[in-house]
Amino acid sequence: MITIAIDGHSSCGKSTMAKDLAREIGYIYIDSGAMYRCCTLFCIEQGLINADGSVQADELERRMSEIHVSFQLNPETGRPDAYLNGRNVEQRIRTMEVSSHVSPVAALPFVRAAMTAQQQEMGRDGGIVMDGRDIGTAVFPNAELKIFVTASDEIRAQRRYDELIAKGEDADFNEVLANLRERDRIDSTRAVAPLRQAPDALVLDNSHMTIPEQKQWLIEQYHKLAD
Ligand code: C5P
Repeated sequence: MITIAIDGHSSCGKSTMAKDLAREIGYIYIDSGAMYRCCTLFCIEQGLINADGSVQADELERRMSEIHVSFQLNPETGRPDAYLNGRNVEQRIRTMEVSSHVSPVAALPFVRAAMTAQQQEMGRDGGIVMDGRDIGTAVFPNAELKIFVTASDEIRAQRRYDELIAKGEDADFNEVLANLRERDRIDSTRAVAPLRQAPDALVLDNSHMTIPEQKQWLIEQYHKLAD
């Protein structure tokens, strides 16, 4: 069993591709972004985000050991839900409020160190598909299959906007677009494990691909390696 790392920009459909592939080949799927979102939800709920959006980093560092993230398969959706300290927070971590604070939280080196250690532990035996920003560069630099996914900003914003509307959130397209550009900026420029393409990653621009086409492409890449 191999390790599959899927990285890329915000809202480019990485997790849909990764989940579908994992289900198809019987691998474990881990959404590393959900782990950073859980840390962010913890900060919001514990009042560790200041009015200007800055994070109370010292206090968060002291309390990192209070954050336990896990995943459990949801039998209704057939996909894993994220749990923060035993509470299902799958819906709560996908809100714009969490999206707007997650990148500064994820840029903190002690947050990355804690999440990276957990991710490496989860993938210790291979047979895993993990998606994120730094999986092929920092978490599993020796992953056998690395994919870097991207798409145009507007198309990514439209997809995320449609997703929020479908969930009944009161979304604004321009706000969604600004949020993903800002997250990409922070994610790409942070000092520790910035978002970038691993030199040995295969690049997929899925701007004009349907979900079934992306899935097909990814399965082909897997079979080229694993067969
Ligand atoms: O993948 P998703 O958009 O849910 O990730 C939310 C945020 O978590 C990203 O914008 C990024 O700031 C952070 N992240 C990260 N490293 C990862 C996965 C996500 O820094 N491996």
